[in-house]
Amino acid sequence: MNNTIRVLQWGLGAMGSGMARLMLEKPGLEIVAAVDNNPAYVGQDLGQVLGVGRDLGVIVTDQPETVLDKANVDIVTIATTSWTARQMPDLRKIITAGINVISIAEEMADAEAQNPELARELDDLAKQHGVTVLGTGVNPGYVLDYLVIVLTGGCHRVTRIEASRVNDLSPYGPTVMETQGVGTTPEAFRKGVSEGSIVGHVGFPESIHMISEALGLGVDRIEETREPIISQVYRETPHVSVEPGMVAGCAHTGVGYRGEEEVIRLVHPQQIHPHLENQATGDYIHIFGEPEVHMAINPEIAGGKATIGITVNMIPHVVAASPGLKRMIDLPAPAALMGASAYARKV
Ligand code: NAD
Repeated sequence: MNNTIRVLQWGLGAMGSGMARLMLEKPGLEIVAAVDNNPAYVGQDLGQVLGVGRDLGVIVTDQPETVLDKANVDIVTIATTSWTARQMPDLRKIITAGINVISIAEEMADAEAQNPELARELDDLAKQHGVTVLGTGVNPGYVLDYLVIVLTGGCHRVTRIEASRVNDLSPYGPTVMETQGVGTTPEAFRKGVSEGSIVGHVGFPESIHMISEALGLGVDRIEETREPIISQVYRETPHVSVEPGMVAGCAHTGVGYRGEEEVIRLVHPQQIHPHLENQATGDYIHIFGEPEVHMAINPEIAGGKATIGITVNMIPHVVAASPGLKRMIDLPAPAALMGASAYARKV
């Protein structure tokens, strides 16, 4: 394929390594560099880190300055953290090197929602250096915002939106178990929420802001609540065990108000092994107004796979886009990269 897009993968954890593996399948993409600060990866060939059974001729480095060269790299995909402020030093390096970037940090899905000053800095810096910066991911970035917005496309008017994502946390590692409070007592859960160690889902302010902005719903206040999902049965994963009466997950709700009126309600109960209590997973979107729209996807769109997919699939759009900080709603619709025409679409 002509004009192969050259990618630097930054962060080789669960998501970043999955992105890199998917890119290897795509003839329009070439991985030319990889950055991670995990000492177990630094100095290794990327192929060994990814476990693909062959060397790729790309050595993982923890010195990004040595590989951030716009003569060799068209775009960085970065999967390191959830927080915009924490990612800023790395984003500044990428942008000032004149290279496009896609971040899956949850707060980057709509950076303006919680970090308006950083969003302005990113937008100014990106325009100054002629590059595009996109935040995406399965959620925020897709299921509880982009899909909601697209489903209102035929509506004459929208009075209220309610959407939920019921998912299974079982595949995730120890960090997710801790930040969701899985395996704690209900008392420890409430203490963790009040102290900020149990955060539940990261992304409701971003999703609500994105929906409100796209439709012009005028949300002026967002409230979030986190409740423990108390298990009636024994549940376990390789990282945590939950006795009956203990916490199997976090039922997190975000509500956007315009004045006193509720206009957007997003609900995200996340727990390990929901099927043990006959809870099916799924994504549900209800749009009230004219006409009403009701969508149900069963089971849930697979979170890890879809984050990897949407990031890789957005690469050509980001490379082709005008400079600046973008959200999913600012770029052409995501589509699986299956053949030449998918790489050729321009903004
Ligand atoms: P992970 O912990 O498995 O991997 C993170 C990797 O980044 C590790 O290899 C670590 O060594 C590396 N790293 C961290 N900071 C770095 C830095 N400054 N420079 C170089 N390397 C660095 O995490 P993951 O599961 O791959 O997820 C990555 C982030 O993406 C998490 O914060 C997660 O919450 C977020 N995420 C967002 C979405 C979404 O829908 N928006 C979906 C999935 C994951």
